[in-house]
Amino acid sequence: MGQHIITEEKVFGELKKAIIETLRTDEGKIRPETSLIKDLGAESLDFLDINYRLEQAFGIKMGRHFVLEHIEEMFGEGTAIDENGQLTDKAVEVLKIRFGDNNTDFRPGMDMDEVPAQITAQSMVRGVMDILDSLLEKCPKCGNSAWQSEDSVRIKCGSCGEAAAFSNGDDLIKEWLTKIQAEKKLF
Ligand SMILES: [Zn+2]
Repeated sequence: MGQHIITEEKVFGELKKAIIETLRTDEGKIRPETSLIKDLGAESLDFLDINYRLEQAFGIKMGRHFVLEHIEEMFGEGTAIDENGQLTDKAVEVLKIRFGDNNTDFRPGMDMDEVPAQITAQSMVRGVMDILDSLLEKCPKCGNSAWQSEDSVRIKCGSCGEAAAFSNGDDLIKEWLTKIQAEKKLF
């Protein structure tokens, strides 16, 4: 679908604000390829905090579960992470499609505990953009296509004033996995 109201730059800007407020780091240290864990020392609770700030800013619901957990839930235990807690070939294939071949070090046999270190600012921006892009073309309340934003962060209907509603992050990951499965028949 794709909304054309909030730009990727704007999302990156809001993410930077959230990271700076949460981790007390300098803006100059945050680049698209920056790993929040490896480069900025983020811990799991920090992600909750950063996600919460993004949710408040954009009026969205971020995913609570990572792609790997969704694979296991949808396609069965052991499909993404083997009995030793290591990534399967198929999990790596999915992660490479999702995060891009060149940007990550995902490899079969990688310990699942090493996976969160691969989360970059860019991958978080992409997660937010996916959610924003789930905006329906027409306002569900009045039926007009009149979405607009005064601050380039919050979208509302220019016709009736209704706040934009988006799919939640977990549902979008599941939809995406369903699509990948239909195309590639991995599991
Ligand atoms: Zn409306």
